[in-house]
Amino acid sequence: MKVSLYNTMGRSIQEFKPINEKEVGFYACGPTVYNYAHIGNLRTFIFEDILKRVLTHFGYNVKHVMNITDVGHLTGDGDDGDDKMTKTAKETGKTVWEIAEFYTTAFKKDFHDLNMIDPNVWCKATDHIDDMIKLIQRIEANGHTYQAGGNVYFSIDTFPEYGKLAGLKLDDLQTAVRDDVHVDTNKKNPKDFVLWFTKSKFGAQQMMWDSPWGRGYPGWHIECSAMSMKYLGESFDIHSGGIDAIPVHHTNEIAQSEAATGHKWVNYWLHGEFLLDETGKMSKSKGEFLTLQLLIKKGYDPMDYRYFVLGGHYRSQLRFSFDNLDNAKKNRMSIVSRIQDMLENDAKQVEIESEEAKNLRNSFDEASANNLNMPMALAELWKTLKNDKITDSEKYSLVLYYDDVLGLRFDQIEKRKKENLGEEAQALLDERVQAKKDKNFARADEIRNELDKMGYIVKDTPQGAVLSKKL
Ligand code: AMP
Ligand code: ZN
Repeated sequence: MKVSLYNTMGRSIQEFKPINEKEVGFYACGPTVYNYAHIGNLRTFIFEDILKRVLTHFGYNVKHVMNITDVGHLTGDGDDGDDKMTKTAKETGKTVWEIAEFYTTAFKKDFHDLNMIDPNVWCKATDHIDDMIKLIQRIEANGHTYQAGGNVYFSIDTFPEYGKLAGLKLDDLQTAVRDDVHVDTNKKNPKDFVLWFTKSKFGAQQMMWDSPWGRGYPGWHIECSAMSMKYLGESFDIHSGGIDAIPVHHTNEIAQSEAATGHKWVNYWLHGEFLLDETGKMSKSKGEFLTLQLLIKKGYDPMDYRYFVLGGHYRSQLRFSFDNLDNAKKNRMSIVSRIQDMLENDAKQVEIESEEAKNLRNSFDEASANNLNMPMALAELWKTLKNDKITDSEKYSLVLYYDDVLGLRFDQIEKRKKENLGEEAQALLDERVQAKKDKNFARADEIRNELDKMGYIVKDTPQGAVLSKKL
């Protein structure tokens, strides 16, 4: 099946055609590790996990590279903003290295809890300083840099295509030079950005390296260009991130990469929309924010959050609320219960043979291949669960097939455990079996209510009545 994806470069849905027939090079901007990831960040990583799973599902061999941004002042608007790592170091009395290590471990825990598949390469910025220096030297040799105030800048006026991803016009940006109040007076153009700092406006840095331009540290954007090219080559298929990366981070990544190599760098740019909370975009700088581990403490399963995220298309904003999460949990539990029913009926994984099941499978695949339409894919899952023309084994096999893409851990669902019932409950259950045999349905219902009050759910299956403890 052909996969089509929305390419931010060109602003259209395009058929996906990799550079090498079945191999896909995929770079996803990873986390900054000066704090925990919030559930908004995790939404972006889930979207990327789905992208990888869909491509894999359709037979592509995806090489997925993700960086860990553990150096510099990390992020912010352009080159402004705080030195967040140093700030956290001061607040906690730890070294910046310890902080990066701590939050990297926390991030990977969230990543695995959400059943995301590890990238083939996790790369830390601090392990790749030499690659960054070499890349800056290439950009410099091609005449795209200048030095001012101790720092090396990328000069966007030397790169006529600057801003092509975001639809920015260089002429407008040049006009802005005259009108703008420069934050950084070294810059020739306010959109120029730092490739290498030796004079930090953030005071003493613990992370510094020698370079041809003096002892210092890399600018915010260069790591992604250096590491992606190291692991995926100088041209590759897909680069992704959250939509906030379009106007600055990805725009600058493109400029410096193509200025270094002289040719096109990435073919498909995919961006995930924001998760909002009641007050707007969820962000770390707001202070208090929701983490996955907090949701787990409140009694949610990570798969509840994953299911909630899949309920929105990655290109649409999604509003988080506990009501919405509860709803996702309820629906997911209902799926789990249906799968358990199938297992009670001895459903097994089988070849899909009936036309009906093949059609269901096809509709699910179409939804996935159509720009990762997960809300539609979930609707197809429900359609399959409610279909009464296919056998339980075919149904179960389809659900597991879908779960390759959805990643909701349906493969780990087991038969309901036979409860070690209390004597009283067992006696009531036996009495109910007899009452039903005697067609005394009023008594059978009465017993069901009594068991309900005792915390048991009675389920009538073809094999007889089964009791389970309420969750
Ligand atoms: P960071 O660790 O801050 O670099 O963010 C990791 C990823 O999360 C980036 O790709 C961001 O674009 C993305 N991101 C940040 N805020 C949100 C949000 N509220 N919703 C979805 N993604 C976000
Ligand atoms: Zn990046």
